[in-house]
Amino acid sequence: MRRNGFLSILIVACLCFVISCSDSDASKNADGVEGLIPVSTKVDVDIDDTESSVPGTTEDPPQTDLAQEIDMVPLGMCDSLGYGEIGFRNQTDNRPHAVYKFGETEQGLPLLIEKWGLRDGPRVLVIGQVHGNECSPGLLVDELRRSPPENFELWLIPTLNPEGLINGARANSLGIDLNRDGLTRRAPETRALMAITKLVKPDVTVHVHSPLNWIGYFNGSLAFDIGKQLVDELSMNVLYTAGKRSSSSEAFLWQGQGEAVLGSQSILIELPAFSDKEAPGAKQQRFYSLQDIEEVRQMVAIIRDSLDASFAVSK
Ligand SMILES: [Zn+2]
Repeated sequence: MRRNGFLSILIVACLCFVISCSDSDASKNADGVEGLIPVSTKVDVDIDDTESSVPGTTEDPPQTDLAQEIDMVPLGMCDSLGYGEIGFRNQTDNRPHAVYKFGETEQGLPLLIEKWGLRDGPRVLVIGQVHGNECSPGLLVDELRRSPPENFELWLIPTLNPEGLINGARANSLGIDLNRDGLTRRAPETRALMAITKLVKPDVTVHVHSPLNWIGYFNGSLAFDIGKQLVDELSMNVLYTAGKRSSSSEAFLWQGQGEAVLGSQSILIELPAFSDKEAPGAKQQRFYSLQDIEEVRQMVAIIRDSLDASFAVSK
């Protein structure tokens, strides 16, 4: 039933965005991931080249509608903390290979995933934001767009929780904490994440949070090795386990993915906060960390390089 629901969403997505993709380009740019329909597509060739290689058509190739794509990632409290532009929209000059809509929130906001990096390389799914009042994750999202990976194929969800981002809230508009919904899957965002995990079949998923400043791994030796390298590069000393909630009504997203795609491995990156307005409910926690935004920027640059280096040998 869930799959049928997801397919309906895809059909709706195609109807909505048919202006920006032709059938042939949809299949070409799906790159072997059947069922994904691009919202918009980067076109590397100029129009003249395309016309000469596609005789008999006068249609222009699909173009990235930059304005449309940017507008689809909402603004929220992370854009107004007084540190400049640090939200989840693409503020770089770089464009992804493609952008796909893989679901919708309760209120009808699109859930977007961008494809970057080495085509047909090992697949890394990065969930940029899960809790809408956590802003440091936007810095890692920004870093990955500024400097896309050379050694893996990056599937980047800028925010899994656009409603929370708009509202400056941890939960979505239904009041559901997505990272306690891994197995109950009451939220449409959670169901969409499980569906996209099944489609993309990532080698590893990276879950990005703040403000607790620690690294964890879940479910396997690849995640352990990548996590260990991250910990070493960041001089953090300890790699933790990302953890498992025994109650299914509290299960983390990585637990849900581990069930949706058996053996699915994950990394948890908890960044420090760069503003005390981020995740105010976490201030009493043992690992709470508030740092200067430039320090967090340096940290995400190390994380980006370390992730890329992790896959250099298996290229
Ligand atoms: Zn969080």
